[in-house]
Amino acid sequence: MSTRGYAAKGPSLPLEPFDFERREPGPHDVLVDIQYCGVCHSDIHQTRNEWGGSKYPMVPGHEIVGTAAAVGDKVRKFKVGGRVGVGTFVDSCRRCGPCRAGDEQYCEDGATFTYNCYERDGKTMAQGGYSTYITVDEAYAFDVPTSIPLERAAPLLCAGTTTYSPLRHFGVKKDDRIAVVGLGGLGHMAVKLAKALGANVTVLSHSPNKHEDATRLGADDFIATGDPEVFKKNASRFDFVMDTVSAKHDFNAYLNLLRFEGTMMLVGVPDPAPLAPSALQGHRRRLIGSNVGGTKDTQEMLDFCAKHGIAADVEVIPIERIEEAFDRTVRSDVRYRFVIDIASLKS
Ligand code: NAP
Ligand code: ZN
Ligand code: ZN
Repeated sequence: MSTRGYAAKGPSLPLEPFDFERREPGPHDVLVDIQYCGVCHSDIHQTRNEWGGSKYPMVPGHEIVGTAAAVGDKVRKFKVGGRVGVGTFVDSCRRCGPCRAGDEQYCEDGATFTYNCYERDGKTMAQGGYSTYITVDEAYAFDVPTSIPLERAAPLLCAGTTTYSPLRHFGVKKDDRIAVVGLGGLGHMAVKLAKALGANVTVLSHSPNKHEDATRLGADDFIATGDPEVFKKNASRFDFVMDTVSAKHDFNAYLNLLRFEGTMMLVGVPDPAPLAPSALQGHRRRLIGSNVGGTKDTQEMLDFCAKHGIAADVEVIPIERIEEAFDRTVRSDVRYRFVIDIASLKS
């Protein structure tokens, strides 16, 4: 099936219109008529080859929402016209321990990520949601609750699940003190989700002008990190730190904000920076990493958001403004997620 998308053809080239093929839906597949796709910082890292190994042409996008245009005859979860969400991966081995536990992103055989990855045949390029349609096995698609406006649901498929998964896995609960570092797409979801879990949330930001927004999003406190004194003043204050920063920074400074046996959850993927053993050892602190959320956590998160009235704060743009959106995201000038209106690709 011929599909229209926007692709990067090289690391320093702007995205441009690109036509490519999607498979015809098989018995277990849903053909999704994409309506909105969020713009994750990982789209920028990968189209610009900031992690190395990028494959071109690359249609990015893994915060996908739309409606089922067709369903295979074995599909049970979705009906034509119903809402469908697709996140950061579209297949995996389905047999290993992580796959059986609904943690497919940690598949021992390697998950098939939504783009910049080969499908399981080892030769077809998976292409993402900056496109009109996607064909996906229903086991890797999500039921998007109707109470969440569709454009505000899109960012939940990556930013939502990436922050929800470690919050749940490490048991963040009522009255825990958590610092969210970086108020962007992931950060603003972390604030909303941690608040809904009853935690006491402090935002740490290098942008002094985000204080009011942090408060509006539900944060109890705000720390502008421009003044190095704040790291001394807030030493050993938090049970958890969730680090969502996209650019290189000093991990040790944030580790030192943890109390005895506190946990720093690293979800941002910046360039590497040195780790001081003493920042961990002195207070038996933990540093953990977490990669997106599996099918189990993602559906649970969508239902949790519906229950708690949570959705992303978005700025909807036509696809033609994608380069501006990338540049503004890199400048931390996004309130708090750009979302592409895919109607702009269909006209
Ligand atoms: P984003 O919207 O651009 O937010 C990143 C935030 O980091 C910015 O808003 C800014 O917050 C802060 N920041 C940016 N540059 C900085 C600098 N030079 N110094 C200090 N702080 C800076 O990005 P995102 O989509 O939330 O993604 C954040 C990171 O997580 C990216 O690296 C992305 O690839 C990664 N990611 C990881 C996973 C995973 O599974 N682990 C999933 C999705 C994304 P302030 O203005 O408040 O300082
Ligand atoms: Zn993402
Ligand atoms: Zn597996």
